[in-house]
Amino acid sequence: MAGYDEMAPGVFRIRQQVRKGWVPFTMNLYALPGKDGLLFDAGSGTRGAVAHVVRCLLDLEGRTGSRVQQVLPSHAHWDHFSGASALAERHRMTVRLTEAMVPLVRTRACYRAAYREGASALRPRAGAVKEALRSLGGRLMDEAFSLSMGIRAVTGPFSPLAVGDRLETDAGTWEVLAGPGHCDVHIMLWNEKAGILLGGDNVLADITTWLGPPRSDLVAYQKTLETIRELPGLRLILPAHGRPVTDPVKRTTHLIAHRKKRLAEIRDKVETAGPKGLTGRSLVRAYYPRMAPLKRSIAQGWIEATLLYLLREGDVARTAEKGLWRYHTP
Ligand SMILES: [Zn+2]
Repeated sequence: MAGYDEMAPGVFRIRQQVRKGWVPFTMNLYALPGKDGLLFDAGSGTRGAVAHVVRCLLDLEGRTGSRVQQVLPSHAHWDHFSGASALAERHRMTVRLTEAMVPLVRTRACYRAAYREGASALRPRAGAVKEALRSLGGRLMDEAFSLSMGIRAVTGPFSPLAVGDRLETDAGTWEVLAGPGHCDVHIMLWNEKAGILLGGDNVLADITTWLGPPRSDLVAYQKTLETIRELPGLRLILPAHGRPVTDPVKRTTHLIAHRKKRLAEIRDKVETAGPKGLTGRSLVRAYYPRMAPLKRSIAQGWIEATLLYLLREGDVARTAEKGLWRYHTP
């Protein structure tokens, strides 16, 4: 059996797939065997997805004669931590979490609360009844998704991990780096000798990573991209989704420019809309005119994050009108 590929000596990619609604959704988990080897990212928590990872780990441990004994989520998004406790149980692994991840992943309720829509840039908070209905709707949606995608809290024991820690594997030493932006508690693993970064969701080869309130930060993300671009001898980024990034400096440079361009675009659109301004919702519809509502609610995250950033900076102001935020020049 395979189910995994060796991306560089001692660095194995396990591909895990679940169904997001009807669409297959693939995650890359990286196994770094060693005396005290590790798995970077835990993926989904469905029974099948976990069983697939356990099979791959057993196979590659047999092949390498080394062990994979620790599992580290890169950040607090469901597709990165949900498999952790089940893997710990079935493969006798230790879950490693940073202090910042703990309050976000220990229960389903705290995970939901950590991403609750309180910070929507499109509409002000409604009355108590309407908000309660929305919250119930969100909860039902979450439960439905959880069935097919396997969203699971990290409920079992864990041992702490910190930025700056160094982890020894057969592929050499990996340093834990902070990589906030996409998610505030994002970490990455850097192997300076090999020039390889396990970048989580920060740099993807073919798509721009998701950004959105309340846990994304545009400024932190730009800084993270700059930090990545300046890593000495960086030659390969292995991302949590999609193919490897083989031109990391070019790709991060492109992403830095892309974010700046998008920021300028939104600022211009608000400015040119005149004194009445425009609603966040009309901006979203202008960017994604034909997208299905559910997909659009995810795609629009960067527009919301950008509006909230411009608001904080004082570049735009907003007024509530008919249940929507209307943005205009201050
Ligand atoms: Zn993510």
